Amino acid sequence: MDKLKAQIAEVADLIRNSEKVLVFTGAGISTESGIPDFRGADGIWSKYDPEDFTIQKFMSDKRARKLHWDLLSDGDLSMFKADPNPAHHAITELKNTGKLYGVVTQNVDGLHQKAGLPDEMVLQLHGDLSHARCLDCGSRFPMQTVVEWIGADIDEPVCENCSGMLKPDAVLFGEQLPFEVLSEAEQRSRDCDLCIVLGSTLSVYPASLIPRYASEGGAKLVIINLGPTELDSWADIRIEGKAGEIMPEIVAGVGK
Ligand code: NAD
Ligand code: ZN
Repeated sequence: MDKLKAQIAEVADLIRNSEKVLVFTGAGISTESGIPDFRGADGIWSKYDPEDFTIQKFMSDKRARKLHWDLLSDGDLSMFKADPNPAHHAITELKNTGKLYGVVTQNVDGLHQKAGLPDEMVLQLHGDLSHARCLDCGSRFPMQTVVEWIGADIDEPVCENCSGMLKPDAVLFGEQLPFEVLSEAEQRSRDCDLCIVLGSTLSVYPASLIPRYASEGGAKLVIINLGPTELDSWADIRIEGKAGEIMPEIVAGVGK
């Protein structure tokens, strides 16, 4: 058996022997759905100024808001058009084995839910660009609907219920992470018995604390990523490869 096959079988074994499997995902799980990572050569920060993506700028500058809505409707942030890939589907299948304790994700693409996971299983640390929220009444709308409200003479969509200002439901620079989501993720990380990281450099704080807490709490740590991560030396099993190829094989192996 080659090394990769042996590692895949080993992770399937770990899952079989676990009760609470926590999956932690980053931008790398969605590249096979056509959504680029932010930091690569073609990444979003190579084209746009991060200064335009602060909460202060969004609230105070109509031009910055127009940039957001343009990118969300038909540009680099129109993630609602993407479909989940085999890695997302494999995680949903893992739920059907009864072992999945939850998914903690740094992603804002909503693809875990699109692959069939219920909202309460997905802890979105950085929010969700597949929805927009009204800053006045809190109503939440699918992004696909919201961008249809933008027309030739409308730069900025407004809330259908109260005409309040809408904001993409992701965490902007300068905004706090959603407290309840973060504490729920922290609690599950300390309580899980296996944590599987997929497609993250584990370099964004405080999200990267989640797999660290899991390992400190005695859980096994599996990291599946293309390229190095900050926690490689902590991993019990470190697989170099594509999430969409490796994860379905692992989940298929659990039933064997
Ligand atoms: P990152 O960009 O720091 O790391 C992604 C890692 O995934 C890289 O090491 C890359 O080599 C690897 N990778 C790429 N394709 C892969 C594949 N098919 N299989 C396995 N690994 C693959 O990502 P991060 O740690 O999530 O941090 C990025 C930040 O940007 C997060 O805060 C996140 O919210 C945000 N972001 C989200 C999305 C999204 O929602 N899809 C996309 C880009 C960025
Ligand atoms: Zn409203």
